[in-house]
Amino acid sequence: KEFRNDVKPNWCPGCGDFSVQAAIQRAAANAGLDPEQMAVVSGIGCSGRISGYINSYGFHGIHGRALPIAQGVKMANRDLTVIAAGGDGDGFAIGMGHTIHAIRRNIDLTYIVMDNQIYGLTKGQTSPRSSSGFKTKSTPQGSIEPALSVMEMALTAGATFVAQSFSSDLKELTQIIEAGINHKGFSLINVFSPCVTYNKVNTYDWFKENLKRLSTVEGYDSSNRMMAMQTLMENDGLVTGIIYQNKQQPSYQELIKGYSEQPLSQANLSLDKDMFNELVAEFM
Ligand code: SF4
Repeated sequence: KEFRNDVKPNWCPGCGDFSVQAAIQRAAANAGLDPEQMAVVSGIGCSGRISGYINSYGFHGIHGRALPIAQGVKMANRDLTVIAAGGDGDGFAIGMGHTIHAIRRNIDLTYIVMDNQIYGLTKGQTSPRSSSGFKTKSTPQGSIEPALSVMEMALTAGATFVAQSFSSDLKELTQIIEAGINHKGFSLINVFSPCVTYNKVNTYDWFKENLKRLSTVEGYDSSNRMMAMQTLMENDGLVTGIIYQNKQQPSYQELIKGYSEQPLSQANLSLDKDMFNELVAEFM
């Protein structure tokens, strides 16, 4: 169960994404998976490199499109544990349409967003998760837009697993990713993953001062959607833990009538030559 490979990450020293990589590797091992039972599909951005740093099947896709590819992988081979990964710009700007529809579809995969509240790979521009007033090269006088409330958005879109964690808390992050892998449906895990090079506001120290663990909130019930929404709004979204989980809702695959028990990837789809030529002729 060795999920490490020999590829050396080229993230900046101290980047929060190192912990996310380690947490995925540990969570997969804790979940009892072997490397050939998992696929990691990523988008574009510093965090998008993660699919190359984990010993499993991997696909480094295009900007904002990790989720369509990941859903295709899962539909073709339901036996694989599929992890989609990317940054906040990738998932919540160019990829937002895919994110919302994957959430409401509840297809059985885990989406991990490394949220550093800035675009790192392109050297520091304001992202949809940057706070209002945030100064970067693209908003030198401070952003006039509020940050997107992603956890509230996910709850509203019908998510069945919504969680948040912090790169500095490897133990909690690993537990949450393992819970996401075991969830039967779509799990969204937003990870506060500091960009130490370009984001000098939302640093490790800033998160340590501002994040609240849900495990310290007396009486918190992650099966209560209203409580989840209220807690997020009261804390400006700065909470970590499993915010909401609905274990009752069937996944997308479970709702497909006549869904084959045999994964498509193992089906015998051989066509004879005449049949193939007929099919091609239809489109000529
Ligand atoms: Fe990480 Fe930021 Fe460096 Fe990218 S630029 S590798 S997000 S620290």
